[in-house]
Amino acid sequence: MIITRFAPSPTGYLHIGGLRTALYSYLWSRKNDGKFLLRIEDTDLKRNSKEAAEAIENAFAWTNLSHDGEIIYQSTRFDIYKSYVKQLLEEGKAYKCYMSRQELDELRASQSADKIRPHYDGRYRDFTGEPPSGVEPVIRIKAPMEGEISFVDGVKGEVHFNVKDMLDDFIIARSDGTPTYNFVVTIDDALMNITDVIRGDDHLSNTPKQIVIYKALGFKIPKFYHVPMILNNQGKKLSKRDGALDVMEYKNEGYLPEALLNFLVRLGWSHGDQELFSLDEMIEFFDPKNINKSASAYNEEKLLWLNAQYIKKLPVDRLVKELEFFDVSVSDFSRKEELIEVLRDRAKTIKELAIMVKNIVDEPINYDEKACKKFIKGDALENLEAFKQALRANGECSSASEFEVLAKKFLEVNGLKLKDLAQPIRIAMVGSAVSPSVFEVLNIIGYQNVIARIDKLLNHKF
Ligand code: GLU
Repeated sequence: MIITRFAPSPTGYLHIGGLRTALYSYLWSRKNDGKFLLRIEDTDLKRNSKEAAEAIENAFAWTNLSHDGEIIYQSTRFDIYKSYVKQLLEEGKAYKCYMSRQELDELRASQSADKIRPHYDGRYRDFTGEPPSGVEPVIRIKAPMEGEISFVDGVKGEVHFNVKDMLDDFIIARSDGTPTYNFVVTIDDALMNITDVIRGDDHLSNTPKQIVIYKALGFKIPKFYHVPMILNNQGKKLSKRDGALDVMEYKNEGYLPEALLNFLVRLGWSHGDQELFSLDEMIEFFDPKNINKSASAYNEEKLLWLNAQYIKKLPVDRLVKELEFFDVSVSDFSRKEELIEVLRDRAKTIKELAIMVKNIVDEPINYDEKACKKFIKGDALENLEAFKQALRANGECSSASEFEVLAKKFLEVNGLKLKDLAQPIRIAMVGSAVSPSVFEVLNIIGYQNVIARIDKLLNHKF
């Protein structure tokens, strides 16, 4: 069985890069009827893991990703980690190192003078003497001193690390007894039976250390997939300035979770030329072997385009629900279907759609000054008054085309052009000169309200 995991360090929110690796891990497990586990790496006790877990759960709930089983918190597992440190000590695979701060500084200084890589020189590896007093030891693992550590990465192919270039007997437990990062990651991945580790390639250099620990404890080494970073347009690491990093900010900006996941799955992975993927299609087609080898560039235009595609095709009821997040309720609005159909093609985000919907559903509170200057002049108000009379004389119009027929007749009889009427009507209806087809708008607003809104403009003091 394929078991994957997402193992965020708590930062208080879920980062979109994190969501992407979570998505990949999720897809790979679901595709294989496996399991997808969630582990919060909160060994740094100063950070609030409850808040972080909540942020992750909220983002998962919003995007519809689900993890299996209970969340695992590293902060509750110190006893487990300590027992493995003890085991390694007992088996002679790890040892206590009593090097003092001063000794360490001297070692660093001499290595830097010799222009060699700073590394621990193994001075306590075979130490059998009397430990110096006043120094609480750290625990170091016996790492290989020469040769290579190699593995086949599912994205990068064969990876070789020359031990001499990057490894030493690294610390697995600090002098206060707390275990170190690579140690706990390895213990947990092994105890959680993780078969496939999919994570950012900023962790690539941790992998040889983790392999040393797997081997020392006789654990099975999982498959690794190191996913290239998301970069900005300038090829630099993505930062807040390039766009939102917090997944929930995308919700606040009016992105649909389907669009964000679609954006993220394509950001670093492809399946032919296909751009649009439902979650089921992602599960069907995803294979980590098709993850790109090079970094991907964040492209906001693409995200907006995808969002617009989803807004175009989402069921009306779902859009009505999404609008509620922006305090726009149209569930009681009689022409909500027409309203959504007329507007959905014009909006790139739900936030934009909400503004457009609100403009039509609520009568204008004020009128756009520039539009009034430009269009409410000459005979505009007289024409509006006359059009109102024509509407009254005609009686109820109940479709866009009925409004159109009536307006065309009115224009002809009065020797007017559509432009003489359309913009003042738009201003009366939505407060500005921007709206979809004026007759569609009239129909959506409804006969009685159209008359009321014309009246309101006619009574406005300019
Ligand atoms: N906790 C690490 C992070 O948030 C991930 C560790 C891993 O996936 O192995 O970057």
